[in-house]
Amino acid sequence: MTSIANDKRPVIVQKYGGSSVADAGMINTIARKICARSGTGVSMVVVVSAMGDSTDHLIELANAVSGDHTPEARELDTLLSTGELVTSTLMAMAISAQGHPAVSLSGQQAGIRTDTTHGSARIADIRVDRLRRELDRGRICIVAGFQGLAENEDVTTLGRGGSDTTAVALGVALEAEQVEIYTDVDGIYTTDPRLVSSARKLAEIGYDEMLEMASLGAKMNPRSIELGAVYDVPILVASTFEDVPGTLIHGGDYMMEVRRAVTGVAVDRDVAKITVRSVEDRPGIVGQIFGPLAEAGVSVDVIVQNASLEGLTDVTFTVSQGDFQRALDLTQKTCADMAREVVGNTGLAKMSIVGTGMQNGPGYAATMFDALSRSNVNIEMITTSEIRITCVIAATAIKEAANALHSAFELDATGD
Ligand code: ASP
Ligand code: MG
Repeated sequence: MTSIANDKRPVIVQKYGGSSVADAGMINTIARKICARSGTGVSMVVVVSAMGDSTDHLIELANAVSGDHTPEARELDTLLSTGELVTSTLMAMAISAQGHPAVSLSGQQAGIRTDTTHGSARIADIRVDRLRRELDRGRICIVAGFQGLAENEDVTTLGRGGSDTTAVALGVALEAEQVEIYTDVDGIYTTDPRLVSSARKLAEIGYDEMLEMASLGAKMNPRSIELGAVYDVPILVASTFEDVPGTLIHGGDYMMEVRRAVTGVAVDRDVAKITVRSVEDRPGIVGQIFGPLAEAGVSVDVIVQNASLEGLTDVTFTVSQGDFQRALDLTQKTCADMAREVVGNTGLAKMSIVGTGMQNGPGYAATMFDALSRSNVNIEMITTSEIRITCVIAATAIKEAANALHSAFELDATGD
């Protein structure tokens, strides 16, 4: 058979998350969508996640057979990679059954090479020749997400939610026109619509802003956005089942809609705080506090050190709730002879305003503090980046705070 010269067709990479492929019916529905799209003159590579929450079930199984023993990272990665293989093979069958040539490829078969860090491997290189050959033959390629092959030929996984990263990396390697992430939300909103009823879907957002929104709670794997930003691949986030416009994440001249200084209000509910009281204020002390935390793999976020009084100072920092107890115990141990006491609490949240338009303009912080105070929300800590201002507040005040900020920065839907 002579190969069809498809080289010139633009490549589209799509990715379907676990909740979009949770059962056979859903896989068939998506197969139909894929076939229809493929008929529009594009070469298609489709990345799939494991069905529903099957990755969680595989982890439960691994723990069940291991008892007190921690499952070996190598075995766990190979086990978890099977979740995505189930979906990719079923999707290829569903597409074939609908009359379109398709082939499933594991991460390894798709040429995805990673480092050897099991459980959170980084993609080193993608050898696309196999994929290109399949596309040239006119086949739709269904790639198992979240996995790759290390140099020692062991299977690795990219970390939870890693299929987004697979999709964007393939988009980069294949010079795709666009990467499309299909999911159970229909785009990126100005804030969490469950908190603020007037939240609006954004037609577009810049990579930097999306990174801040993603690391602060808006759904999307931050690593995939970083990758998109570095290689300038546009990423569309859209609904799997509803045919409505999604949100385009890109780096070009965006903001065709009226440019607003603040693009969104991000909410992160996973915040705990630890305070070291009356610690000696001398060089090296902060290093001594944070060194053991870094060694234990606890990532520390907002850090505030007070001006010292009589040679003593207070240091407060935040960690995720999951790391809280460990971080508290460790810090109490480190500071046993250095500080008066180490205290902490969970039940906090970070509220952030995000927008590249804020970069040089004054007054955003003042507007934010004023809006929060008028809603009677107490600010516990403050931190900023070039395009973000974050306040740590009580988790119980999230709703008031989100609504106050959303209207203070004129993000509310206008009803048009
Ligand atoms: N199945 C993996 C997970 O649940 C990867 C993914 O869904 O992107 O984390
Ligand atoms: Mg999943």
